[in-house]
Amino acid sequence: MPDITYLCKDCKQSFVFSEGEQDYYRDRGLAIPKRCAKCRLSRRQGRQSFSIPESTPVTKPVEKPQVEKPKEPKE
Ligand SMILES: [Zn+2]
Repeated sequence: MPDITYLCKDCKQSFVFSEGEQDYYRDRGLAIPKRCAKCRLSRRQGRQSFSIPESTPVTKPVEKPQVEKPKEPKE
């Protein structure tokens, strides 16, 4: 199969879906990419930075001790 040129969904630039890549995707039963390698990579990285591990401890706001108001001296 010859190389196929697709139009990236994100940056609207054409990118080459090479013969080797086509084999790779076909072998793994993956869908044909709609984005260029650059956008796919940036999306992958973006997703990683957004994912917060669930084990992250939630920092509770420190309760401030109530400061007693100075009593006004009664005369
Ligand atoms: Zn792109």
